[in-house]
Amino acid sequence: GDASSKYVVEHKDKLLDGLLSEGFDEKSCLSRYQFVLYRKSSPHKPSSYLQSRLRKYEHLHKQCGPYTESYNKTVEKLKSGHHIGPTDCNYIVWISYSGLGNRILTLASAFLYALLTNRVLLVDRGKDIGDLFCEPFPEMSWLLPLDFPLNQFNRFDQKSPECYGNMVKRNVINNTADSLPPFLYLHLTHDYDDQDKLFFCDQDQSLFQNIPWLIMKTDEYFVPSLFLISTFEQELSNLFPSKDMVFHHLGRYLFHPSNAVWGLITRYYGAYLANADERVGIQIRTFDTGPPPFQHVMDQVIACFLKEKLLPEVNPQEPILTPYGNQKSKAVLITSLNSGYFEKIRNMYWEYPTVTGETIGVYQPSNEEHQQTEKYIHNRKAWAEMYLLSLTDVLITSSWSTFGYVAQSLGGLKPWILYKPENRTAPDPPCRRAMSMEPCFHAPPFYDCKAKTGIDTGALVPHVRHCEDMSWGLKLV
Ligand code: GDP
Repeated sequence: GDASSKYVVEHKDKLLDGLLSEGFDEKSCLSRYQFVLYRKSSPHKPSSYLQSRLRKYEHLHKQCGPYTESYNKTVEKLKSGHHIGPTDCNYIVWISYSGLGNRILTLASAFLYALLTNRVLLVDRGKDIGDLFCEPFPEMSWLLPLDFPLNQFNRFDQKSPECYGNMVKRNVINNTADSLPPFLYLHLTHDYDDQDKLFFCDQDQSLFQNIPWLIMKTDEYFVPSLFLISTFEQELSNLFPSKDMVFHHLGRYLFHPSNAVWGLITRYYGAYLANADERVGIQIRTFDTGPPPFQHVMDQVIACFLKEKLLPEVNPQEPILTPYGNQKSKAVLITSLNSGYFEKIRNMYWEYPTVTGETIGVYQPSNEEHQQTEKYIHNRKAWAEMYLLSLTDVLITSSWSTFGYVAQSLGGLKPWILYKPENRTAPDPPCRRAMSMEPCFHAPPFYDCKAKTGIDTGALVPHVRHCEDMSWGLKLV
C-alpha cells in the first residue's frame, strides 16, 4: 500500500498501550490508527486490569449485541411486560440527549456503569451518533437497532410510570416482589429529584441487578459519584489505580472520530497547527445574556494568558523589537461560537511586536454564532474542534463547559480554567490551573444512603472533591 497505510500497519501494536483492540477494518475508521501521528503518547498508561476488562467487555458485547440470540430473547421480555429469573445478557440503553460535549461525557459514564454492572451498552443513535463516531467495539455494533420496541425515547421523563424515582414515590417497586418489570427508566438529568438520585445508593443498585433493561437519560458526567458507591469501590480502584484518569482512558477508548470528522481535524491541523513550536488552545464559552463578544470576557482571557505567561506580552511603543526575530512560533487555536475574541487577539499580535520576539499565529476554525444541535456539519465541526483543542500543549478553558472538559481530558491536559464572571466583570485572578484533567459532575447527590440524611459528598474521600469552576460540583482528583 501507500506510505500512510504502511505507517498505520507499523503502529498496529501501538494500539494505545493495549487500550484498543485489534480486529477492525482500518479504512473505515482512519482515526483509530492515525491518531498516533498527531498525539504525543500519553504518559498515563491504562492498568493491565482495565485492558483485560475491556477485552472481556468486547467479548460480552459480541455475545449480547444487536440481533444475537440473547438479544432477541431479552427483547422478548420487554414485550411480555413481566419478568422472572435471570437473563443471559443485561443492557443499559443510553438515550441521546443534550449538547455534544454533554453526550460524550454521558456516554463514557454509561459505559463505565456497564463495565461495573456487567451490562451491555447500546446507544440510541439520535440524529448523528453514527455520523460522528466510529464503532468502538470489534465485530458488533453499539447502535441500538431502530426496531427496538421502546424506541420512542422522548416519551420518557420524570413523570413516566416506568421512571424508577417515580416508582419509588408511588411505592410500587421493591426487591422482595416476586415479579420485577423487564425494564426501568433512569432519569439522571440535571433537574432530577431525591428519588431519582437513589440511583447512587447500594440498595437500589442491588435491585437493578435483577432488571434486564435499564434505559438512561442523563446530561451529567456522573462518574465521581460512582466512586462513592461501596459496591463499586474495589472494582474501580482495580480499574483505575490513578483515579483522575477515568475519562482520559475511557474517552480515548470509545471516541474515535468518523472519517468525515477526521478529515476536518487533519486538514485543519496540517494547515494551521502542525508547524508551530507550541500550540495553545483557548476555549471561550459564555453563558451571559446579550450579544457577544463581551468586553469583560475579552479582558479576562488576555489577563489569563499574560498573567500565567502562556502567551507573550506585546509592546505597543516599538514598531519592531527583535530585528532578526526569535525563531520560536506559537499557534493559538481559539474555539468560540463568536469571532470577536479571535479578531481582537489576532490583531493584537499582528499590530505589535511580542517582547520575546516569538511569532504568534491565531486561528479559529468556525464561528457558528449559536448552538445548532440538529445540523450534521455543525456537530461535526464541534467534535473536530474539541479534538483539535485536545491536541494542544497548553489549554485554557471556560467554566461550566463540557465542551472544554472533553478536550482537556482526551488530551491529558490540566487546563487553566477561566473563572465564571459575575456582574459582567472579569474576575481576579482571571483563571486558575485545574487540580486534575477530569470533567466536573454538575449535579451530584448530597445524600448519605445509609444514614438517610444530607451529607457533603465532596468531603468524604480525598479523591472526590468539589470542582474549581462550580462549587457544588464533584470531580475526581
Ligand atoms: P457545553 O454547553 O459548553 O457544556 O457544551 P456542549 O458541547 O454540550 O454544548 C454546546 C454546543 O454548542 C456544542 O455541542 C456545539 O454545538 C456548540 N458550541 C459551543 N461552543 C462551540 C465552539 O467553540 N465551536 C463550535 N463549533 N461549536 C460550539
